[in-house]
Amino acid sequence: MISVRNLTKIYKLSKKKGGQQVVALNSVSIDFPDKGLVFLLGKSGSGKSTLLNSIGGLDTFDSGEIIIKGKSSSNFKQSDFDSYRNTYIGFIFQEYNILEEFSVGKNLSLALELQGKKADKEAVNRLLEQVDLAGYYKRKPNQLSGGQKQRVAIARALIKDPEIIMADEPTGALDSNTGKQVMDTLKKLSKEKLVIIVSHDREFAEIYGDRIVELKDGTIIRDETKNEVEAVKSASGISFIDDKIVHIKKGQQVSKEDMMHIGKMLLEKTQNSDAIISFDEKSNETVKKTAFITDEGNREVFAATQDKDIVRKQYSPGDCRMIKSKLGFKDAFKMGASSLKHKPIRLIFTILLAVIAFTMFGVINTFSSFNEAQSIYDTIQTLDIKTLAISNQKYNNEGIITDETYSKIVEDNPNYTFNKVIGVGGRTGIYNTNGNTVNESYTMLPNSTCASGIMSVNENVKNQFGLELYKGRFPKDNPKPTSWTDDGFETHENKEICISYNLYKNYLDAYPFSGWEDLQDETLSVQIGYYDEYFKIVGVLKDDTDISKYENLEMNTTSSNYLQQQESTIVIKYGLVNMLYSTNEVFKEISEHYSSTNVRFIIYENNENRYNYAPDFLNVKDIDLEIKYLTGNKAVVPIDVLTWLGIDGADINRTIENGLTIKVANNYKYEDNHYVTLDVVGWVETNYRVYVAEDCFKDYFCGVDYILTTLKGNNEDKKLIEYTYATNSKMLNLTVMCPSTPILSGFGETIEDISNILFWVGVGLASFAGLMLMNFISISISYKKREIGVLRAIGARAKDVFVIFLCESMIICLINFLLSSIMTGVVCTIINNSLINDLGITLSLLSFGIVQVLLILAVAVFVGVVSSFFPVYRFAKKNPIDSINNR
Ligand code: ADP
Ligand code: MG
Repeated sequence: MISVRNLTKIYKLSKKKGGQQVVALNSVSIDFPDKGLVFLLGKSGSGKSTLLNSIGGLDTFDSGEIIIKGKSSSNFKQSDFDSYRNTYIGFIFQEYNILEEFSVGKNLSLALELQGKKADKEAVNRLLEQVDLAGYYKRKPNQLSGGQKQRVAIARALIKDPEIIMADEPTGALDSNTGKQVMDTLKKLSKEKLVIIVSHDREFAEIYGDRIVELKDGTIIRDETKNEVEAVKSASGISFIDDKIVHIKKGQQVSKEDMMHIGKMLLEKTQNSDAIISFDEKSNETVKKTAFITDEGNREVFAATQDKDIVRKQYSPGDCRMIKSKLGFKDAFKMGASSLKHKPIRLIFTILLAVIAFTMFGVINTFSSFNEAQSIYDTIQTLDIKTLAISNQKYNNEGIITDETYSKIVEDNPNYTFNKVIGVGGRTGIYNTNGNTVNESYTMLPNSTCASGIMSVNENVKNQFGLELYKGRFPKDNPKPTSWTDDGFETHENKEICISYNLYKNYLDAYPFSGWEDLQDETLSVQIGYYDEYFKIVGVLKDDTDISKYENLEMNTTSSNYLQQQESTIVIKYGLVNMLYSTNEVFKEISEHYSSTNVRFIIYENNENRYNYAPDFLNVKDIDLEIKYLTGNKAVVPIDVLTWLGIDGADINRTIENGLTIKVANNYKYEDNHYVTLDVVGWVETNYRVYVAEDCFKDYFCGVDYILTTLKGNNEDKKLIEYTYATNSKMLNLTVMCPSTPILSGFGETIEDISNILFWVGVGLASFAGLMLMNFISISISYKKREIGVLRAIGARAKDVFVIFLCESMIICLINFLLSSIMTGVVCTIINNSLINDLGITLSLLSFGIVQVLLILAVAVFVGVVSSFFPVYRFAKKNPIDSINNR
């Protein structure tokens, strides 16, 4: 069934060991029969093991081929040898090599499972019975004696019913009695199978062997087969063997002639040697065995093996069918997991360092994936902020929200209600009828009486913001004044407003107001743009913004709570805290009259920023001047602008007559923004005022300072915030004004600069963790080498070896991943909380989320796979015999 042709195996010794070559097999050719017991005999180092291992596919060879059932091995890949072993060969080793961490039963069923067959407990128990180990299914190998272990090994070799059994010195580690038992078992098996045994025990070989192949220096020097030589039989059937031994079978009749012949022999032979006439069954058995006498009374003699002695079928290549082994994931996992316990301290350190590395990676990633929108959303969530202001442009870089922008925002966010707010400039005051100051405030502080903005109010707005009418009544529209003057003083009586609760409270704290009666119907003067507007206080609307946190804040630039001051400014400036509430009519009127002080203008000439200037654009409709004829984009500019452009003296009128256009943008960043081209048609001496036609004013320069909406407290808010950051909105330059905005806008830029460095730090740390893991896996491999070799000997594929160690490394990775994720979350929370608690600012800087978790997972798995791949790959490529022998 199996033949070997010109098998040559040469070991090249390393330089350290002398560097020469050892020819372990020198062109060995041999044919094996389909069954019977073949001994490979020879002195130590003669090449027996090498031959056996090569035939069994445990070892590679340099040239020659093995022919299995007519199929040549010359085109075999490693995996084919794996399958070949798995299908045809059962190995028995001198060192038993059963897997210590599995029970006896599992050792057997594992071999069965590698065949792709179901673990059949019945079959396993039957086999255990056959090797006299009934009831040992659950035993652990370390509870067995050597002989028992070897019998487990035999049972394991048998469980997949292989056609060939190979045993390398199977009795070498056993005492002679146990050794005989094992030999008897093998002899029994050889009736059905081909059994090849490597031994240096000539006696065993001659007693048990059907054939003896003797090796010396890698070549076959003797190949003999046991043949039965017919003995000389008397007429009554008694055997006279070589004229030396007389064999009388039980119950056989001895004739007179026989007696004569025996008597004659006694006379002649006893002169030179002893003679024993024995009826002792035991002694007779021994004599029969050692003298190779069969039950038939014939003698067995070894004689040179001839082709006729090798009984085998005629095979064709199609007869060789190979079963791919399949190590179940559960077993692979168990084996992988079991090696974790070998070096617990090292494991803990490996995991610890990896976790530190991955955690840093995670935190670093959180830093570098810092997202302003996300951070603002987190802050809003943390602080439970209920209103959100959206303005144009970045913090400190203020612009206006024109009607066009407003419509777009409303259209894009149908689920939100947006309320326009006009920002109030520098001063809010109350004066007596003589125009003398009663109370005046310039600074927007929690405890000041300076208003922050004007918003129109009605029943819907009240409900939207949860306002409560605390004093007085809602504002009403009064008849319009007949004329509008620059000072507007005449009309103030008509414009009613409600003030916020905080303003009300602060008034009561200030001289000379002691109650609502003192404030009611007072005239409030508010600076809007460059003008003062006058209102009549008719009520107090209370909102639920909590500013207690900022109440005792010291407000100066040298104070260490600078960030908190900035935060409080945002809260007051872009919230309801110091709000004034007017009617819609009044609101509209104001917003159409003034361009906000928040608008900064840049005048461009030839695409160059020539004149960064904050003029007041005036709607000519309201101006009683000669320039009322302005139409389209015609403008009258202050002379300053012309001077700045380098036009002066006699040039002025000429330049204007020849046509002077200027580009004006309501933003610092020219390229990002809409701009309008104005035709300069005249100039005025007055400073700061650019006059344009009403439509031009409304289209480009009229707007509100920000819009205010109420939040929903769910993910939709995030979408809204992201919307303001989205590219299309960027064109509008929207910014959400939230307590953390001023800090975040600085942080975002800083983080971009250092994120690159941080990334490489993370890579470095992860590589370090990888090296640690690689080291651990390598150690694991050295521990597991032998076991894995055994698994491969009983059929496991190189791929299975991979899976085992991959399991191990993935278990470590999983632990790393879980711990690192938790750690990263904890570290981010600690950093965020310390910002809130220690710095006193309200900010969720680091948003640790699913992205980071996935990233850590990816990094952990990547590092795990890469770092285990190389050591495992090197190992998996090894010959099974090398790993069994721990080379
Ligand atoms: P035996 O089993 O008959 O004792 P082996 O087959 O083990 O002999 O070895 C045959 C020869 O090959 C010996 O000279 C031995 O030293 C050499 N040999 C065996 N294995 C190796 C190896 N892994 N590296 C180098 N030489 C080896
Ligand atoms: Mg050997």
